[in-house]
Amino acid sequence: MIPVTRPFLPPKHEYEQYITGIWKRQWLTNMGPLSSDLELKLKDYLNLKHLLFVTNGTVALQMAIKALNLTGEVITTPFSFIATTSSIVWEGCTPVFADIDPLSLNIDPTKIEAAITPNTSAILATHVYGNPCDVVAIEQIARKHNLKVIYDGAHAFGVNVNGRSIFEFGDISTCSLHATKLYHSIEGGLVITKDENLLKKLAYMRNFGFDGPENFAELGVNGKNSEFHAAMGLANLKYIDNILTKREELALHYIQRMKNVRVTMPLWHKTATNNYAYMPVIFESEEALLKCQKILTLHEIFPRRYFYPSLSAVLPYIDKAAMPVTDDVARRVLCLPFYYDMDNEEIDLVCRLILRAQNN
Ligand SMILES: *Cc1c(COP(=O)(O)O)cnc(C)c1O
Repeated sequence: MIPVTRPFLPPKHEYEQYITGIWKRQWLTNMGPLSSDLELKLKDYLNLKHLLFVTNGTVALQMAIKALNLTGEVITTPFSFIATTSSIVWEGCTPVFADIDPLSLNIDPTKIEAAITPNTSAILATHVYGNPCDVVAIEQIARKHNLKVIYDGAHAFGVNVNGRSIFEFGDISTCSLHATKLYHSIEGGLVITKDENLLKKLAYMRNFGFDGPENFAELGVNGKNSEFHAAMGLANLKYIDNILTKREELALHYIQRMKNVRVTMPLWHKTATNNYAYMPVIFESEEALLKCQKILTLHEIFPRRYFYPSLSAVLPYIDKAAMPVTDDVARRVLCLPFYYDMDNEEIDLVCRLILRAQNN
């Protein structure tokens, strides 16, 4: 069986060393020493001034929306994971979709401008598959119309643009450290901002708003993460360079093997590094995709239609909106199996079967 993804796991004894320390200290959660150490090491690795380790990537988005006091309409992409849109609704705002660019698959800045109304308070864009949005154009639009910007960077761990972490952009960026992501802490998320006051507010929000044992500075929530999760984050961080290098090698092998397959891949940001978080391929038609998926499934290989369908077409709590580019791409894109301990033979098999499906 070849699944679409498989989590990276560090050597068990290295995780256990951290756990032994937790038993000694008996400090299990609430910003303990491992969580603090993880934050320090991540800031160092990602070259960021501030970040907070939180429960997960969804809570990170909710905290970001709350901390920026967003109201009314938030312009967002219909081509993302459900959490991008549902967080907006959860925080009492109205998502307004702007269609995507057909090449990068990220939100199209020209469509953002067309969707702005007097009620728009922000833009929430996703760096889809880790591929950075047009952050320059989005920043210009935000300045011009006085809008806040949040980036859902759930896929974008380790990506740099012009030598700067992609998480530096926007008022707030978020990341997910979920087990299915390329770097993970089992469950976990990051909130990143350059603004010291926002950081302070977010830090209060993460811990119920507590300011000392008997005082409250803010409306808060439980956005903390545990020492056990931080331990996994620390154990995995030791391997992050191996993970990124291995993924690049595997991706290049995939691309080479698919030279004769009639599929395209998203156009990557020109000045950004690639973290090879996913292996998305875009077929000529939905029929071609389904034919390929069928053959793969017969051989116990399970790619995933990610993201399908368009969020603008399926959510029962949102007015449907026609998003022609997203509707079209979402029908034709398939994420192929891709994970750290996949090997070249498995990739060869997947590609042979795709070729067979195409030539049948
Ligand atoms: C995974 C993901 C999230 C949610 O992150 P969790 O840590 O699972 O809550 C949000 N947005 C996108 C684009 C994701 O892929």
